[in-house]
Amino acid sequence: VTVSERAEAAIITVGTELVTGMRLDTNTQSVARALRVAGFVVREATSVPDHEDDIAEAIARLAARFGLVVVTGGLGPTHDDVTREAAARALCLPLERRADLELALAAAATRHTHSEASRQVLRQADVLRGATVLPAVVGTAPGQVVPTALGRLVLLPGPPAELAPLLASVLEDEGSSSEPVRLRTTGLSESDAQVLVSRALSPFSGVGFTILAALGDVEVLLFDDGAGEPQLVAAGHAARSALGHFCYSTDGSSLAETVIATARARGARIGTAESCTGGMIAAVLTAVPGSSVVVMGGVVAYANHVKSAALGVPEAVLREHGAVSPETARAMAAGVAERLDLTHAVSVTGIAGPAGGTPEKPVGLVHFGVYSEGVLTADHRHFTGTRDIVRVRATAVALDLLRTALETD
Ligand code: ATP
Repeated sequence: VTVSERAEAAIITVGTELVTGMRLDTNTQSVARALRVAGFVVREATSVPDHEDDIAEAIARLAARFGLVVVTGGLGPTHDDVTREAAARALCLPLERRADLELALAAAATRHTHSEASRQVLRQADVLRGATVLPAVVGTAPGQVVPTALGRLVLLPGPPAELAPLLASVLEDEGSSSEPVRLRTTGLSESDAQVLVSRALSPFSGVGFTILAALGDVEVLLFDDGAGEPQLVAAGHAARSALGHFCYSTDGSSLAETVIATARARGARIGTAESCTGGMIAAVLTAVPGSSVVVMGGVVAYANHVKSAALGVPEAVLREHGAVSPETARAMAAGVAERLDLTHAVSVTGIAGPAGGTPEKPVGLVHFGVYSEGVLTADHRHFTGTRDIVRVRATAVALDLLRTALETD
């Protein structure tokens, strides 16, 4: 089956709060991912305000083009919840009040003081003719699956926690394709990852991929676009070996989680000595549950006299080479390892900017020191970008150096 032959889908998220920027539309993301995993190709995702005209127009247009249209939001009881009415108009179907749903909603209706509010709750019992009802698992708003000329229209409640179980029940029967393979990398540019993965995938047909890039982290997702599970797994292995050491996880775990798991596996005691990252490396490491088994601690040594007093960096090293130097980075790593009795340590000292750069030591220059069971090494990077970007990238590199040290015997 080729991509063009696969079921095509569209998503409509309903909510004035979404199109006015008052709330982030996370439903598009969660629905799109679920559809992708279920084997659908999402061709369009759109947001519309809580206006019946706008919702009806979007439903009519997309239901005329795609086999599956998923709408989220506007199924609640209040006057601005008009998705049911809009769908009825778009598909020229009447709304019918269902007695069984009315009965189920009766308890919720009596909780309200105003009879107007009680009446409104019962609007949730209005179902498009011919629709299958998806009973609410969380909350009170049921979903609906309505047959259309090309397939079906699925109406789901807006709150993410209410939507998730109903969407899962709709997609359960889809004979879904395999879960995507997730390869997470660091130290590799998005474009390089793309080239390596496309080459590795050339012998495979029916496997698609997407690259998601974040600061210091590039994730490659491989999808089953008709190849089937065994081929997807084989393609995953091929892509994994093409990415080589840059790939730090194949199960979705983060870089920090990988460092913690690797350290645990070898019974290491790890720690950090940080200047320009100000504790960020220690923060992400200790954010991982179970990190206390391997993370002993860290020192934030910002000023030079703290680098000397707290980490034992010789004043002569600071004077001769400066705080941002491989010599200082190594002395910081050695100092923290000795003081905290570590097997492995990483240190960072750099110029995050925006001020403080010189021609020899420009903004973005960051030195790293690594202590690995008695062996000291240093490395450096020159990052571009704002202070925040430099700090986040430096944190990723430091974690990766720690990972490499822990993986090396
Ligand atoms: P109910 O009114 O019964 O809660 P509903 O189907 O009418 O359900 P909405 O009123 O449209 O849903 O949205 C309710 C809440 O759900 C919103 O205030 C928002 O918190 C959340 N929500 C709705 N749509 C989205 C979305 N696309 N992304 C993230 N959150 C959303």
